[in-house]
Amino acid sequence: MSSSHSTTIAGLATARGYAAGPVFIYRGGGEIPIPEYVIGHGQESSEILRLHRAIADVKRDLEGLISVLKERSGREDVRVFECHLMLLEDETLRNETVGYINDERLNAEAAVKRTIEGARAQFGRMNDPYFRERVRDIDDIERRLLKALTGYDRNPAAELKTPSIIVADDLTPSETVQLPRDLVLGFATNGGSTTSHVALLARALALPAVCGLGDITRRVSPGEIVLLDGTNGAVTINPSDDVRRQFEELVRRQREIAVEASTGAPAGTLKDGGEVLIYANIHPGIPLAGITEYGARGIGLYRSEYLWLNRETEPTEDEQFEAYKRAVIYAGKIRDGASANIRVLDIGGDKLVRGISTKEANPFLGNRSIRYLLSHRDVMRRQLRAILRAAAFGKVKMMYPMVSCIEELREAATVLEEVKRELDETGIPFGRDVSVGVMIEVPAAALNADEFARYVDFFSIGTNDLVQYTMAADRGNDSVAYLYQPMNPAVLRLIRETVAAAKRHGIQVSVCGESAADPIVGIYWASLGVDVLSMSSTYIPVISKVLANLTRADLDEYAKVPDTMPQGSTAQEIFNACQEWMLKKLPDLQDVFL
Ligand code: PEP
Ligand code: MG
Repeated sequence: MSSSHSTTIAGLATARGYAAGPVFIYRGGGEIPIPEYVIGHGQESSEILRLHRAIADVKRDLEGLISVLKERSGREDVRVFECHLMLLEDETLRNETVGYINDERLNAEAAVKRTIEGARAQFGRMNDPYFRERVRDIDDIERRLLKALTGYDRNPAAELKTPSIIVADDLTPSETVQLPRDLVLGFATNGGSTTSHVALLARALALPAVCGLGDITRRVSPGEIVLLDGTNGAVTINPSDDVRRQFEELVRRQREIAVEASTGAPAGTLKDGGEVLIYANIHPGIPLAGITEYGARGIGLYRSEYLWLNRETEPTEDEQFEAYKRAVIYAGKIRDGASANIRVLDIGGDKLVRGISTKEANPFLGNRSIRYLLSHRDVMRRQLRAILRAAAFGKVKMMYPMVSCIEELREAATVLEEVKRELDETGIPFGRDVSVGVMIEVPAAALNADEFARYVDFFSIGTNDLVQYTMAADRGNDSVAYLYQPMNPAVLRLIRETVAAAKRHGIQVSVCGESAADPIVGIYWASLGVDVLSMSSTYIPVISKVLANLTRADLDEYAKVPDTMPQGSTAQEIFNACQEWMLKKLPDLQDVFL
């Protein structure tokens, strides 16, 4: 029997669904703990030997990496690692480190740190940007050497042995992808937000998640049973029998909605027979079968960067081709003419890739996504080749993330044409009629939507980033979550403008940010005339159910709700008015809107 001291902690409803199970506290890899001490007299030579062994280990790793990379022609990464090798073999740096061990009796780790700090300062002061840039290489060498010396390569996920609810401070995308999927029942984190990558992964895997719980890691102990309610955003510790019963009731109701949706008309069919296409957001590594189970009618966002996560090297063109081909063939089986919309590599920001991402002061405003690709043409070419080759197997759409200006669109179009020519010349089969789109994620892109429309076949509005950049509020930071307002008048204006521009130019417009899955907000995007809502598949049944109860005339009326609000209304007030409209219109679905 459970005791009566059940406690419920409220957090952000991050990914729908319910789970009950034991807690696994995930303590991230974090920084390498460095032991620093003074060695005993006479231990100098054994410490120097340790240093030389670590240098030899790192050298071997680097040489291995270089020879793998050399098998592919023209890789600029080879040069980067060759430069690391040179730094590692640099006599001055090595003698300096040995000097710290001999003269100051520092242990090898402390000696390496001291040498690297000096080198870092020296490079950092140089006027030449090329040399300043070498600071990153020095950081990398330091990390490799310290790893080799301390043997620190802990993977906290390796300790997970039974199906559990993962409780963590926060999880990065690469930490999340390392978790053994079959042992994860759901996520509960201190930090994070509804659009952080743990949220996206949980949604894609149809696992419940609650973020922004404050200090959940301190309030639970490993192995204790908790109830995780991702639909309402709560975690219950030490549940009483009554609370458990209520929880089971919630689980039953959710199952009912899913069953009703999967047996009714195709997802997105309106009451009057009209439709809004409902697609799924997915990424490599997620079982494709899940998407049809929830009624998706195509793949609206394929986050290709997940092929890059959790590894040190770029996936080969063939590896990429096989992954894209699987998605394209699968989309074709959903229904005739269904497409897979592959988004090109969107790294940077919070999606950092080992061996590729570099340290930047402001990664969300840095060399990410399309900017990264345009500055690494080889990587871009290989990806475009793989996508075009996959397009020989079905309908493919392709889109560029984080585009800010026309130049980027023009340059991307030039690279695409070059790649097509290359494929033609070598006689490699590929799909010629891939439509090309742009994600509208930066305010500048929304404001220039009319100009952008001349260069592309469709728009896909990425509200996760568009809200972040419009409000200047990190999408993964719970302490500024109050600013994360999809219904802020500024965001509404940008989205309305984007949709209107798409209509003027006769191109398709979709929303693939998480807001598409919100029954108040997503339906509002549909009411503006958005053609496709793309979301994590578990959210499809609820959105479909709402749409099935509305006509196009209802949507037209709903679109006007924000305009009926007095000037100066807040995002929350606009949201409340929309919610009120929905509750009045569809009182039987109040569970969905509250
Ligand atoms: C978005 O920004 O809304 C989007 C769909 O892209 P991601 O969440 O992968 O950044
Ligand atoms: Mg984005």
